[in-house]
This record gives sequence, C-alpha cells and structure tokens, in this order.
Amino acid sequence: MVIHKHADKRNSRTKMTLRRGDMVLVIAGKDRGKRGKIVAVFPEKNRVEVENVNIVKRHLRRQGAALQAGIIEKPAPISRSNVMLICPACGKPTRVAHEDLPEGTQAREKHVRVCKQCGEAITVENPRA
Ligand SMILES: [Zn+2]
Repeated sequence: MVIHKHADKRNSRTKMTLRRGDMVLVIAGKDRGKRGKIVAVFPEKNRVEVENVNIVKRHLRRQGAALQAGIIEKPAPISRSNVMLICPACGKPTRVAHEDLPEGTQAREKHVRVCKQCGEAITVENPRA
C-alpha cells in the first residue's frame, strides 16, 4: 500500500497564514489597492473578511424585537489570494515564512510568521482590538 505523504504535506502548507487583526492590502478585485484589518477568517473557505473591503448592502427584514429592519452595510468575505499581508514592522506587503520557535517558548503556537521583506516576526498584538 502506498502512503501519499506528499498530499499531507501540501495540505499543511496551504494552512491559513492570515489572522484576525492582520493588516492586509487588497491586490485583486474591485477594492484593489485598499488596506484594511482582517475582522474574520474562514480557513475552510480560504476567505477573509476585511474591514471596509467588499462592502455589500444587506436588506434586513425585521425579525423579532431585537433586529431593526433596514439596510446594513457589511464586509463580505473575499478570497485570501486576493489579499497580501502588510508587515507591521516595515509596512510593506509581504509573503511570510514560518519559523520554528525555540523549544520551551511560552507561546500559543510553535511557529512564528516572519516577514520575507525585513525578517521581523509578525504577530497580532491584540486580535480583538
Ligand atoms: Zn517586514
């Protein structure tokens, strides 16, 4: 029996490198050139929601007492391939590398994202801000 190790590797490499709170530059689509902060990520759909990007108008009908009827504008998710991470250290749109953290580092994850432009680690300081 042949085990397809390469398929597994490819899967892990396509994991989402964008996080909520990241600043991104839109590089394709109608909002190309805009910058904004990621407000939500949808890894299974390969999409991200960016503030003030791909705004859609939604017509709401009144549903119960809590919701107001009317039109709201909210960002719709766009493909992550249409955005590029902006490095907080050098301010340039960049691809990221992943580096292993030293053994025993107190961190939520074992890897850190590193800017390919300036080599600084890219962290999200306060994802909920
Ligand atoms: Zn950088």
